[in-house]
Amino acid sequence: MKLTIFIVAAAAALLSVAMAAAPPPGQQTATGTDNLNTTTSTVEGPNITSSDAASFIFLPDGRFPPNFTFGGMLDPNLGSHDALSAGMRYAWPMIRDDCGRFVRRVKYCFVNEDNKTALRHTFKEAIKSWRQELGEPSAESGHNLQFKDVGNPYCYANWQNERNPENWQDGTDVDALAVRIERGTGSAYGTLGYQFALESAPGRHYMVLGDDHVGRAAHEIGHVLGLAHEHQRSDRDQYIEFRCNKLKGFSDAKKRAEQAAEFDVDYKLCNYQDFAIKYGFNIATQYTRGLGYLTTHDGADGFDYKSIMIYLSWESADDVRCRLNAEHCPLAKKGETGISAFVPFNERPSSRDVAFVRQFYRWVPQP
Ligand SMILES: [Zn+2]
Repeated sequence: MKLTIFIVAAAAALLSVAMAAAPPPGQQTATGTDNLNTTTSTVEGPNITSSDAASFIFLPDGRFPPNFTFGGMLDPNLGSHDALSAGMRYAWPMIRDDCGRFVRRVKYCFVNEDNKTALRHTFKEAIKSWRQELGEPSAESGHNLQFKDVGNPYCYANWQNERNPENWQDGTDVDALAVRIERGTGSAYGTLGYQFALESAPGRHYMVLGDDHVGRAAHEIGHVLGLAHEHQRSDRDQYIEFRCNKLKGFSDAKKRAEQAAEFDVDYKLCNYQDFAIKYGFNIATQYTRGLGYLTTHDGADGFDYKSIMIYLSWESADDVRCRLNAEHCPLAKKGETGISAFVPFNERPSSRDVAFVRQFYRWVPQP
């Protein structure tokens, strides 16, 4: 059985996720970073690639295990702001672990020894913060998410500061998430969810951390699992104030655009990703609204202010007064009295972030 799902390239351009820096060198199947507009387009379901097929568990007659689900087929009215329900990305594939359990395993590796030394602790602690909320994979916890370092011993045999498929380490799974640090950039970025590839495409999943902060690493893990930014939900304006002109770099970008005789500059800088990037206002891509039919939202309970996937109020704030008064911040909660309030720094996954995992990384009973 073959399942092939084609996703229109234009659709991919509309979902933006997490990051501030320019994407690393492009790769055939990679998204670039949190910003998905470089996506190509064809994503295929399981059992189509030679190398990744081994990651899947099939029953002897070729059927999938009980309760096997593809992200795109789940109820689009449930869950958080994610890219899985819309079928743009997938949950990490199911395998059978050493104990014989069906698990969805996020395979990761560090690009080389130095990066492992720098990040091992941070990455493990970030996984732990998810694990503490989720519990171990089991029928009781309701999820089958597992993380495993599959480096042999690292992602690359010879890491040279760029993703080069030629240098991928023999013996390390090609679909492993390549983790590395890029100090001094102040930003983190990575791929969103799991991507199937027509060819083996080593290094197509990656995460780059700007520092060794555990909370930020846990946020990036949310993206790895398939979560998008809560504050980019299409309906976010009902719940939060986004003041684009309070972001660092807005006035400079505005000047540049006006000098280029552009019109409707304020609106375009804050709503059109390509326009913002053209005038060096890349940070806006981390705030622009997604479109509802491409990503899903929380149910009737509304917005999740506690999600680890929302930015705190003073992220990228241009005005120091934001530290004292949320009215001066790029992002703030909409108050019932008309006075806005701070969005705090959520360093741990919320109950809804966890519910997302239980939906897409659902425990599968043993056959
Ligand atoms: Zn993010």
